[in-house]
Amino acid sequence: MILYDPDLKIFYSTLINDNRFFGGFGTRALGDGRNIDTAINFAQTNIPNFKTIVIPEQIHSVNVTNFTANLIDNVERVSETDGIITKDINSVLTVITADCSPLMFVDKKQGIVGISHQGWRGSVKRLGQKMIKKIIELGGKKENIYVAIGPSIGQCCYDIDDERYYEFVSEFDGYADKIFHRYQGDLHLNLALLNYLQVKELGVLEKNIDHFPFCTNCDKKRFFSFRRDKKIDYGEMLSFVVKN
Ligand SMILES: [Zn+2]
Repeated sequence: MILYDPDLKIFYSTLINDNRFFGGFGTRALGDGRNIDTAINFAQTNIPNFKTIVIPEQIHSVNVTNFTANLIDNVERVSETDGIITKDINSVLTVITADCSPLMFVDKKQGIVGISHQGWRGSVKRLGQKMIKKIIELGGKKENIYVAIGPSIGQCCYDIDDERYYEFVSEFDGYADKIFHRYQGDLHLNLALLNYLQVKELGVLEKNIDHFPFCTNCDKKRFFSFRRDKKIDYGEMLSFVVKN
């Protein structure tokens, strides 16, 4: 289940969070994730033992980095990556999104955490599945992996052109009737469902997947949205996961 914590201004998954694992999907109220102070302030206040905040340079790739802190600095940037996994204790993995889909992963038995950012490019190239494969390479087991799919643009608002539609259909032939719907003549994509189907296809148990029911573009009060606000003052939501 996904719940809201009004004090921390984050949504979180009850499948992920316990006394060892702490993850959250930040809201607009938490501040703009593009500003490094948003993550630093949050960690200093709410993650007492944090050592490092890990910030990927997101480039809409399917690159996954296996991160180990070098502990020289409180903030470590990882170049050209959209997915990070770690066995570190107290390294806070982050991504920022505004309509793209953030995914959070934990294998509690092996003590592995991961986070990834995928818009349509990362989703069509199956970044979520790549994350799971990398977690398994690190010793994780698919039946022990929990996944939380964070807030993204909903199918209500995500219309795509024909060229992109055919790119998806050639990659996800069996999914097409599930992930595409027509609204007033336009094709709309359900990005969260696509990522859900991908992680399920790789063997993550249905009961171990949490997903987020709202749309970033529709809910201006809670979320930034690139599509909605790109011409005005758009920001990005900060998401994070850490093992204590
Ligand atoms: Zn919407």
